[in-house]
Amino acid sequence: MRSWNSHIQVSNLTVRYDGHAALSDVTIDIPDQKITAIIGPSGSGKTTLLKSFNRLLELDTNVVVTGEVRIDGENIYGPGVEVTHLRKKMGLLAQKPTVLPMSIYDNVAFGPRLNGRPGRERMDEIVRTHLVAVGLWNEVKDRLHKPADRLSVGQQQRLCLARGLAVEPEVILGDEPTSALDPRSSRTIEEKFTALKSRYTIILVTHILRQARRLADYVVFLYDGRIVEHGPAGQVFGTPREQLTREYIEGIFS
Ligand code: ADP
Ligand code: MG
Repeated sequence: MRSWNSHIQVSNLTVRYDGHAALSDVTIDIPDQKITAIIGPSGSGKTTLLKSFNRLLELDTNVVVTGEVRIDGENIYGPGVEVTHLRKKMGLLAQKPTVLPMSIYDNVAFGPRLNGRPGRERMDEIVRTHLVAVGLWNEVKDRLHKPADRLSVGQQQRLCLARGLAVEPEVILGDEPTSALDPRSSRTIEEKFTALKSRYTIILVTHILRQARRLADYVVFLYDGRIVEHGPAGQVFGTPREQLTREYIEGIFS
């Protein structure tokens, strides 16, 4: 029996690049309205697992995926699944911010404009709300129509989060989203994730163990493409079941 709901269920997921398995037989349920941290050494398959949730893997042509990922009960690798519909449910923050080559305002308005055209006042409201949510409003309110790439890297990453939130996703995916940021911007992103988790499912890939300890409710430890251990953060960090997990969280290898 589990004590939480899940709308992402992964069953027997195997991902091969050119025949080499980057993920082997991964089975896991991701809890809703919590922060799940995916941890593990470099090359263990963290990014591959994250990309499997919104079918970003198939941008590479050398990939073969077997098994299932169910979102809202639907196997996203089944026939007839609309990838654009699926991706609307997901906001993705990459390692480095990827602002669109347009103004700050237009970055946030981009998704809502694609999803139907809110009027000017409504759009202003949407842009403001999401910039407030990521703690950027006060910093940019006087230069909303300036190019987004003039912002600092930390501000750009918060803008990317605002852009993602503006399409009202169900799930926020972060692939080491603070690794390129200064400490203050990292802290802001961490705070926003914590503030947002009551409304979203957040899945955070991180190789920073202290960050996982600070943020995660649930932890998935990957090693060499396999799940070694997963469970509530207190259990995995406090009383790990596996020797390999213990050594990793003690920093014996990284
Ligand atoms: P992590 O994010 O934990 O560092 P990745 O998911 O990026 O791990 O990679 C897992 C394994 O798959 C690694 O051995 C990596 O070299 C390999 N891999 C990742 N992407 C590709 C790709 N596009 N083509 C071939 N091999 C890849
Ligand atoms: Mg990675």
